[in-house]
This record gives sequence, structure tokens and C-alpha cells, in this order.
Amino acid sequence: MSDPEVPPRSFEARVFWRLVTPFVIAVLVIAGSAAIVVNLSARSQDRLAAESSQPLVRALLSGFERDLDRLVYDNSWWDLAVENLVEDLNKEWADNNIGTYAAETFDISESFVLTPSDTTKIAYVQGVPSLEDARSYFGPDLDLLVQQSRAASMFEPVPASGYFLRDGMLHLVSVSALTLENPIGADTERHVRHVLVYGQQLSGALLDEISSGFGVDDLGIVFDTPPSVPSLLSTSLIGPGGAVVAWLTWKAPRPGSDLLAPLRVWRVVALIGVLALSLLFVHQVLRTARRVADHDRQLAEKDHQLAQSSKLALLGEMAAGVVHELNQPLNIIRMATEQTRMKFRAMDVGPDGQKVSSQLEIIAGQTERMAETIQSMRIFSRDDYGRKIAFDPARSVAQATEWLRPEFDERGISLDVRLAEPCGRVFGEPSRFEQVVINLLINARDAVQRGLDDSVSSDRAGIVRISVSDDPAREMVTIEVRDDGPGISPAHIDRVFEPFFTTKEPGSGTGLGLSISYGIVTGMNGTLLAENTGEGAEFRIELPRIMPADVAGASAAPIDLE
Ligand code: ADP
Repeated sequence: MSDPEVPPRSFEARVFWRLVTPFVIAVLVIAGSAAIVVNLSARSQDRLAAESSQPLVRALLSGFERDLDRLVYDNSWWDLAVENLVEDLNKEWADNNIGTYAAETFDISESFVLTPSDTTKIAYVQGVPSLEDARSYFGPDLDLLVQQSRAASMFEPVPASGYFLRDGMLHLVSVSALTLENPIGADTERHVRHVLVYGQQLSGALLDEISSGFGVDDLGIVFDTPPSVPSLLSTSLIGPGGAVVAWLTWKAPRPGSDLLAPLRVWRVVALIGVLALSLLFVHQVLRTARRVADHDRQLAEKDHQLAQSSKLALLGEMAAGVVHELNQPLNIIRMATEQTRMKFRAMDVGPDGQKVSSQLEIIAGQTERMAETIQSMRIFSRDDYGRKIAFDPARSVAQATEWLRPEFDERGISLDVRLAEPCGRVFGEPSRFEQVVINLLINARDAVQRGLDDSVSSDRAGIVRISVSDDPAREMVTIEVRDDGPGISPAHIDRVFEPFFTTKEPGSGTGLGLSISYGIVTGMNGTLLAENTGEGAEFRIELPRIMPADVAGASAAPIDLE
């Protein structure tokens, strides 16, 4: 029997690891390198996008500033505007065309006209006509823009614009002087010209437009210096005096990382998942194949054991028949011999008669021997006649080894005894069980002796090991007898339990020891198996454990269950 503590790796397990290990390493190396390359290119994409977002946002803002300048400039040249605003105030026209029209069409939130006396002529602030003074609305900085726009030549008017902060809101204001087509007299004096003012709030929808147009996130306005966070970019917004009024901020775009995000989450997880599943699948297939093979082997073993035990059961039945058939005539022979001998003794017979009498004595002796053999066969045929009790098998083994030890010592054979302490109880006749143990030990002793005698340069230790182990989980008690003799030859291993099978010299073996032991063990509902360990033979008895070792009184005195 091979050593059970170090099970050799199965063929399937070796194949599995040899195939899987290089595969897993290759996949990991490829996946790792790909991940590094992809990450590096994603980072450089992010850097490029962040660098280019600054001029893009700036360009968009300038475009937006230019559009407002153009609008106010175009309207200041518009004949109708001049007519309805300068020559005479047509309030309705002004409301519809300068105020509501600008608000609804161009999203302009403030528009008004300042007269040469710098009072508001018509004002449109967030859709509500207001007479509020434009200067008090935007503060003195508006004067700067008004002066700049009036300073421009009438024949070449230029709008002036800048950012304003008011009520926590940022506005871009553009101012242009209204220009008559044919100016005369005072019209040409720059400081007395009417000016048209358009203001646009930088808020919600407009910021969203910039943000979606250039793919920048979290676009916002801060009025203090923007925090120096690497992920946050900014550009300054300049007022009419040239000072910074506010900053436009946005989150640095990360197109590379964004592209990688779904890759990381889904593909990598999916790839690992698929890999793990396929490994699991291969493992399962190999495991199932191994289980099927194990199962087949176990079935074959069971079949073999079954065939063995049914053969032995048949032999047992035959033995019972033979015992019964032989007992009768044997008794008659014995009685007849006895009576004849008694008659001879009573008669005065001569030397011939003496001779016959001694022959009759030999017949009686041989009949006695035959009766004893037949008695042994009754045990093999499981002919129960003893008293069965619950007993401690370890104690029986201890007694048997104690009895045999001097014999072993005399031959220089070691006897190694290991007993479960305490041991569960089994059911049967202790004296018969002891007989089984003695049979096995004597056989082992003979085998070891044979091994020691046979080997020329003996490297054998000459040892017999007997152990009793208690397995509460399986409810079994196991008794193993191992020797380091020559073992049982493969041709004989299936026959050793047959009655009268012996390989010993005529006169030294009856061939009944193992068959009787088999009968006793199966009579206790146990099993007795023989196998070669590689070092010698092993006989294993397994007996059902009918009660645990710690049952009160069980170890002190056997319990009679009958
Ligand atoms: P006997 O001992 O009288 O021959 P057994 O029934 O006890 O009868 O044994 C039958 C045969 O089994 C033996 O003759 C021997 O060939 C074989 N045998 C039994 N025990 C061992 C053992 N420990 N090692 C090798 N062979 C064995």
C-alpha cells in the first residue's frame, strides 16, 4: 500500500498545471504590457487636450465678444435706429426693435441708449423697460466705454467693450456711438453723440453652449483668483479699465482617460471573467474525468471483493454441509471403535489381539483429530454457538501480543503495537477475536522469519506492526497487521482465505487459519482484507463500532448484549 499521507499528484492535475501555467503567464504579460501602453497614450491624450483647451476657450470668448461688438456697431449705423432714437424718440419702436428684439433674437439681456446729456433715453434690462440710470446700473466704468466709442471718428466708428461685474453676475457690455448718414453741425461733435449700449450676461445657457461646443466640463466663473488645482484650467476676463474682473474656469478635459474608463471596467473584467471561467471549465472537466476513473477503479475493486466474499460464502456453506455429513459417520466410527476396543479388552486375546487393539487405538486417535478439524471448519462456516458481547478490541489485541511477545523476542522479530486509547466497542466473542489476532500475528511472524532466512544479505528489519485505530466518524474500528516479509505472491492473494490453502511445508500449515479468521470477522459483521504494501503483507480488519469508548463501565467489564 502506498503512503496515504503524501498523495501523488494525479496525471490530470499535472497536465492541468503544465498547460495552464504558461498560458496564464503569457496572458498576464500581454495584458500587462498592453495596459501600460494604453495608459501612457491615454495620459498623453489627456495632456494634449488640456493644453489645447486653453486657446480654444479663449478663441470662443473672443468670437463671442466680436459678435456682440458687430451687433451694436451694425445697429448704430442703422438708419431706422438713428431716425427713431436720435431725431425723435419712438418708444414703441425702440422697445420692439432695440429691447425685446435684441433680447429674444440675440439673447441680449441689457440694451439702452444714452442721450448726449448722458441720461437714459430708452432702457431694456432683462426684458423689463427701465428708466434706471445706466450709469448707476453699471457703475462709473461704463463712462470709459462711452468715451471710447464717442472718441472714434464718425466716419469710422469703432465699438468699445469690456466685462462688468454686477449683483454677482458677469456681463459683457459693448458700446457704439450712433452715426448719422449725413451729419451736419453739432452732429459731428463727438461728445454729444447718442450711444447704443448692449449687454449680455455670461450665465447658464451661454456657458453651457461654450462648454458643449468645446467639450470642456464644469465651466464656471470665479471672481477671486482661481485655485491652482492641476485638473482646473482658467482664463481671465478683462474689464473696461484693463483690470481682471473675473476668471472663466473649466475642468481639464481627459479624452484618453474617458476612453479608457469603459475599457477598464468592462473589457478587463470581462477578459478576466472569461479567463477564469475557461480555467474553471478545464479544471472541472479534468476533475470529472478523474472522478469517473476513480469511480471505475472503486467499482472494479468492489466487484472483486464481492466475487471473493461470495466464493468464500459458498465455501462456508459447503463446509457446513461437509461438517454435518462427516460428523455423523465419524461419531459412528468413534463409537464402534470404542466398543470394539472395550470388547477386546474384556476378552483374553493373544498377541495378535493385542496388535488389533493397538490398531484400534490409532483409529480412535485419528478419528479424534478429524473431529477437531471438523470443529474448526464449523467456525469458518459461521456456525455460531458462542456468547457474544460488546468488548474492547484493543484489550484483546493487547492480550494476544502479550502472549506472543516472548516467542517473537526469541526469534529476534520486533513487535510494534499501537492501540487506540480509549477504543470504541465491537460486538462478538472476545476469545474468537483473539484467535483471529493470534492467527494473523503467527502468519506475519512466519512470513518475516521466511524473509529473514531467505535473503542472502538481509536488509530487512524483521518487524511486525499491529495497530488498533478507532474512527468515530465512520463508526469503525480498524485493526492492521503489517509485516516486512516477502509478501503474498500475486497468484495466491485471491486464495489465501480459502480453507486448506497453504504454501507452508506439509505438517507445518493446515491452511485453515485465515479461512477461520475470515469466518469469525464476517460473523462480527466486519471485513478482513489482505494486500501487499510493497514492503510486505498487510491484513486489515474493519469492525462496526457499536458504542463509543466512554460508555460508562464498558472498558471495565464487557457488556453482554444478548
Ligand atoms: P497456514 O498459515 O496454515 O498456511 P493460513 O490460512 O493462515 O494457513 O494462511 C494461508 C496462506 O496464506 C499461507 O500459507 C501463506 O501462503 C499465506 N499468508 C498468510 N499470511 C501471510 C503473510 N503475512 N505473508 C505472506 N503470506 C501469508
